[in-house]
Amino acid sequence: MSEALIEGRTGKWEMVLGLEVHAQIVSKAKLFSGAATDFGAEPNTQVSFVDAAFPGMLPVINRYCVEQAVKTGLGLMAAINLRSVFDRKNYFYADLPAGYQISQYTRPIVGKGTIQLDLPGGETRSVGITRLHMEQDAGKSLHDQSPNETYVDLNRAGVALMEIVSEPDMRSAEEAAAYLRKLRSILRYLGTCDGNMEEGSMRCDVNVSVRKPGAPLGTRCEIKNVNSVRFVMQAIEYEARRQIEILEDGGKIDQETRLFDNAKGETRSMRSKEHAHDYRYFPDPDLLPLELDPAMVEKIKASLPELPDEKKARFIKDYGLNAYDAGVLVGEQASANFYESVAKGRDAKIASNWVTGDYFGYLNKSGLDIATAPVDAAKLGGLIDLIADGTLSGRLAKEVFEHMWASGKPAAAIVEEKGLKQVTDTGAIEQAIDAVMKEQADKVAEYRSGKDKLFGYFVGQVMKRTQGKANPAALNELLKKKLAG
Ligand code: ADP
Ligand code: MG
Repeated sequence: MSEALIEGRTGKWEMVLGLEVHAQIVSKAKLFSGAATDFGAEPNTQVSFVDAAFPGMLPVINRYCVEQAVKTGLGLMAAINLRSVFDRKNYFYADLPAGYQISQYTRPIVGKGTIQLDLPGGETRSVGITRLHMEQDAGKSLHDQSPNETYVDLNRAGVALMEIVSEPDMRSAEEAAAYLRKLRSILRYLGTCDGNMEEGSMRCDVNVSVRKPGAPLGTRCEIKNVNSVRFVMQAIEYEARRQIEILEDGGKIDQETRLFDNAKGETRSMRSKEHAHDYRYFPDPDLLPLELDPAMVEKIKASLPELPDEKKARFIKDYGLNAYDAGVLVGEQASANFYESVAKGRDAKIASNWVTGDYFGYLNKSGLDIATAPVDAAKLGGLIDLIADGTLSGRLAKEVFEHMWASGKPAAAIVEEKGLKQVTDTGAIEQAIDAVMKEQADKVAEYRSGKDKLFGYFVGQVMKRTQGKANPAALNELLKKKLAG
């Protein structure tokens, strides 16, 4: 993956990527007020005097949000700073009533950590986390409600965010995608962010630079607020090529903030470094430094769920799965649990093939998820049992599965109803073989004179005669014997 170099006119280029992710903390109340945080509420119905920055209102830290940030830090294998500081980040915009955002700057609550990327083919690669800090979200300006006025919705103002900053460790759009997926998976396991990029509860700023392999880091551009994994990949590809073209034409990259145009698939300049904000950070005088009790951190550590990497390692060890399949299964807690119920007391690899293959395939095609799918773990397990006891061949099982998906009925009922049982009765198979050999006497002669390639043809003919129900192993064995004469 790290060899994902881009061919230019002057040779190969390497892209260097660092991501800043804003993740909304799962919490009923805001970071410094008791106002609610439900998504999609009527505008300005979830705004306290603190969020609206009425004079004299004082922020009070939400303990639960702090615990969520600590939990996330621990899930990212990161250092927890027992003392951190809230700063004011000053800027002026209509949706920021206070004229500053309360954030953390030089002393964030979480320091260095790491994330393991699961790459195609099953390899992993680790990416450094630089820091995680807590901050307030701003409100939302609505420019499309009136032709000549802008409306402001403050429901989001003051909602708790975690900004999670990565090291510039990624080298391809695929790695950036793998990073976002893994981060989202960890946040969901922890229950600290729902990871929903469409609703904006996870937003991503992408930093991109390019260089000749081995050269020092190039100047980066930051692409703001990209809101899906697919767009992140498109923005990176576009931006890296743009920079390469400039450099190959003898130009230089200006450090700037850019926007991604979803419709055009392009990035364009938003502001250059000369116009960069001077945020004039200073410690918020309304808030004491945040001191964490080590016992509280320990308690959270002890309460962490089994995280994707540990689960993956356990699936490889206990179920004998390969790294790729294990990685796919643990991506979401629900699919990992589903797999474990299917595999319980059954052949773990067959279970994994069915879950990651047909089952996930049908989920995707139908746009359903595990909770709403017509086939639950017990039913899929029942189907696998019918393969194990010889009632169904692999081929028939796929047919039965299709009926199960359509009707929601258990496998056994469908086998009964549709007469899809595999024929293991050697007498019946022999009869079919005899009939075929009689009809195709000339082909039998050809086969016997050395044209062994015809074997497959005979298998097909016998299968046809038994409506695909002949047990493949028994059929092969008997056919070989009979053809040998
Ligand atoms: P800023 O406040 O300007 O956004 P930060 O230090 O918060 O700066 O974030 C910088 C982000 O840019 C990090 O994710 C970091 O990994 C990334 N980054 C830094 N240097 C480069 C570079 N040369 N190329 C690509 N990404 C970079
Ligand atoms: Mg930044």
